Amino acid sequence: MKKAIMLAGWMILFLSAFTQKIDYNSYPVYTGTDLGLTYSPRQSLFRIWSPPADNARLLIYKNGITDTASLIISMKKNTAGTWTAILPGDQKGKFYAFRVHINNEWLDEVPDPYAKAVGVNGKKGMIIDLKQTNPPGWEKDASPPAPLLVERGEAAIIYELHIRDASMAANSGIKNKGKFLGLTERGTKNEEGLSTGLDHLKELGVTHIHLLPCFDFYSVDETRPDLPQYNWGYEPLNYNTPEGSYSTNPYDGAVRIREFKQLVKTFHENGLRVIMDVVYNHTMLTEQSYFNQLVPGYYYRHTRDGKFSNGTGCGNETASERAMMRKFMLESVKYWVQEYHIDGFRFDLMGVHDIGTMNLISKELHKIKPGILLYGEGWTAGSSPLPDSLRAIKANAARLDRIAVFSDDIRDGIKGSVFDNNDRGFVSNKPGMEESIKFGIVASCKHPQVDYSKVNYSKFAYAAQPTNTITYAECHDNHALWDKLAISAKDATEAERKQMQKLALSIVLTSQGIPFLHAGTEFLRSKKGNENSYNAGDSINAIDWSLKSKNRDVFEYVKTLIKIRKEHPAFRMASSEEIAANLEFLADLPGGVVAYTINGAAVKDKWNKIMVVFNGTPKMQNIAVPTGYWSKALVSGSDPAGDITFAVSNQLLVGAYSCVILYQ
Ligand code: CA
Repeated sequence: MKKAIMLAGWMILFLSAFTQKIDYNSYPVYTGTDLGLTYSPRQSLFRIWSPPADNARLLIYKNGITDTASLIISMKKNTAGTWTAILPGDQKGKFYAFRVHINNEWLDEVPDPYAKAVGVNGKKGMIIDLKQTNPPGWEKDASPPAPLLVERGEAAIIYELHIRDASMAANSGIKNKGKFLGLTERGTKNEEGLSTGLDHLKELGVTHIHLLPCFDFYSVDETRPDLPQYNWGYEPLNYNTPEGSYSTNPYDGAVRIREFKQLVKTFHENGLRVIMDVVYNHTMLTEQSYFNQLVPGYYYRHTRDGKFSNGTGCGNETASERAMMRKFMLESVKYWVQEYHIDGFRFDLMGVHDIGTMNLISKELHKIKPGILLYGEGWTAGSSPLPDSLRAIKANAARLDRIAVFSDDIRDGIKGSVFDNNDRGFVSNKPGMEESIKFGIVASCKHPQVDYSKVNYSKFAYAAQPTNTITYAECHDNHALWDKLAISAKDATEAERKQMQKLALSIVLTSQGIPFLHAGTEFLRSKKGNENSYNAGDSINAIDWSLKSKNRDVFEYVKTLIKIRKEHPAFRMASSEEIAANLEFLADLPGGVVAYTINGAAVKDKWNKIMVVFNGTPKMQNIAVPTGYWSKALVSGSDPAGDITFAVSNQLLVGAYSCVILYQ
């Protein structure tokens, strides 16, 4: 995540009277699972947790917009710091909010953080019958059968997509533009007749669609679809409801639920799994957040002088180590899996969270869904009061239980630092990047032939297993890869940069670990040089589906790489020991060339032996390779050897900026 840092400055200046001198650990912990609304046609039971309150009210509304409550009910103090109210009869369709009284003051009226349905812009909870939000056939919905080893992540190929980006361009051919439903449409095509949207995802062959934030976020005004609004969505408002602007009717809290379920179901029917990008590390609002208006200060970390700490760069950071925040996160992800059949989560700024909470989440989610895929950003965006040793950061990846971290080592090894626009990487002929590429090939695991002292960032193998590592060259943050190459390799021709991008994706899709693709990278997506497009609008962000026609060769190449990866377990070995034993780097190569062989037979691959060569230099390289009858699987660029089916000499010609995959 990288978003509006501008909020941070003034928000942390707020000094909460409550945040000082309070021992939050003295608050009783509620262990029940009925926080928020428990609906039945006979009654609606409301329960909120607010130990410091001496009074609490439930406000009932006829709709989600009015400020005039039709009913105000005094809540009863209940066990473990909770407050309850019961409304008899069928209350379906009404809206609600709460206010608590603390230190002689009524705080703002807010829906509870557990709200499962909300009105427009998420300002009030909505009483609904969740059973009635299921699309037809929902009870039969199941995740696609696990591809080989998906339980441990190795077979997954992740595709990161923003709901709105997928369909907004006129040439998407999609009717429900910017909506969940847009990605449920079949048979959509661009102007040249090539598939778009859902059909494109199927054609490409990826296994998991990682959706940028789909929970209810703050900035897009859901009452104004006529305005040119856009946001990535890293602005959490209601964690347990889908975003209203992606629905066809944001006023009725049930519609967005049904439509998001429809999307999940359609993806599942088409062999795709769904990953949600979740952002528990901060809330969009700080003092005024729904957490903070019910239990001031509790859900956040603070600096020594009582201010909100800001490890996220967004004005606050949540405190996952506190019992009720940990419980909230755990129940929230469980809810998405159980109610929406979600198949995985990407944790934004996961380094803000403590390892204990992340491992508890992993343990509990794996019990429900053994094939669940969990990963996150193993870093923060600022300093945090929680010690590094306790945080789910990249350096602690080996202590995370079945949770992967993004490898910025391979990302920037491939293309150059994201913080220096002009910096180049291995694919754009920067010298000295070989060990960073090798580090990525072995998925940040221990390998006797990697010189860790020469890896760009990490000087040790932080991954215990390949499934600890997400391998990528680009994501929504920073410049699109195609733009980064245009800026940093400006002397190269467009044809050369195309070769560089294909080489980058070759590295991502042949490396051990879990590969991750940014939507559109397979046909050279550009964001027109915008490196932080979080609110930049459709003109920058919408996927231009004409690129699929224009760069069809790149698309076909990536599709082939994906096919090879799925068919060959050698590219997704199950353990670091297997990698160390069966993957051997070739020695004495020219600078800017990395090559290795895999003993395919040892890992039950149908290819007995595999050789992969990457040439990141602008010239053809003649390299010494093990003698043998090598067949060609894939060549990314010009093929100096022509249409060979085998080579018996120990010399191999590899074209400029290109990848060669051979097998025996
Ligand atoms: Ca919203």
